[in-house]
Amino acid sequence: MTLALGDTLIVATRNQGKVKEFAHAFAALGTTVKSMYDYPDLPDVVEDGVTFAENAYKKAKVVGDALGLPVLADDSGLSVDALDGEPGVYSARYAGEHGADEDNNDKLLSELEKLRLGEDTEQPLLSPARFICALVLYDPASGKKLETEGTVEGWITSDPAGCGGFGYDPLFYLPSYEKTMAELTLEEKQQISHRGDALRQLVAKLHASS
Ligand code: IMP
Repeated sequence: MTLALGDTLIVATRNQGKVKEFAHAFAALGTTVKSMYDYPDLPDVVEDGVTFAENAYKKAKVVGDALGLPVLADDSGLSVDALDGEPGVYSARYAGEHGADEDNNDKLLSELEKLRLGEDTEQPLLSPARFICALVLYDPASGKKLETEGTVEGWITSDPAGCGGFGYDPLFYLPSYEKTMAELTLEEKQQISHRGDALRQLVAKLHASS
C-alpha cells in the first residue's frame, strides 16, 4: 500500500464543521488539512450511493482523480431507529437540497413528533439513534483505497442544547455525558464521535500497512 500521511492531506468536503474536526485531528499527527475550499474548480460529486461507504468512495475517487493526489473523503449521517434508519445518506438534505442544519433538525423533530401523536407528549422526546461515518482514503496513482466506518450511539432529544459542532449535534444526547454532542468540546467530540472512531481505525490501518 502506497498510502501514507504526508505534510498535507486533502479532504474532499465543503462542510466547514468536518473541515474543523479533521484539521484538529490531523494537526496532532503533524499533517495540515486542505479541503475543497482550497481547490475551487473541482467538480461537484453526485452523492447517489445507497450507503455511506459508496458515497465516500465516490467523493474520494472523483476529487482524487481530478487532482492526481491522494484524497480522504467522509460520508456521514444520522440513523434514527424509530424512522427506520432515516435520514441516513440523506442527512445533509433531509429538509431539501439546500436545507440548512436548522431546517434538517426541525424536520427530524417533526417526523418524530408525528410518531408520538396521541401519546403523553409532556415527556421530552428521547429516541435512540446513531451517527455513522464512512472514511475512504484513495490514491489515484495506485488506485488503492483504505476504508473504515465509525459509529456513536445516542438519543435524539426534543430539548436542543449547545452551540458546538454542526448538523444534528444539538439534538444528539449522550447519556454518559448528560450533554448533547453540541455541548462537548472539540476534543471531547473527537474522543467519542463516529468521525473520531473512523479516523482512529484509519490511522491504525495506515500504520499496519506501512
Ligand atoms: P455529507 O456531507 O453528505 O456526508 O452529509 C453529512 C450530514 O450528516 C451533515 O450535513 C449533517 O447533517 C450530518 N452529520 C454528519 N456528521 C455529523 C456530526 O458529526 N454531527 C452532526 N451532524 C452530522
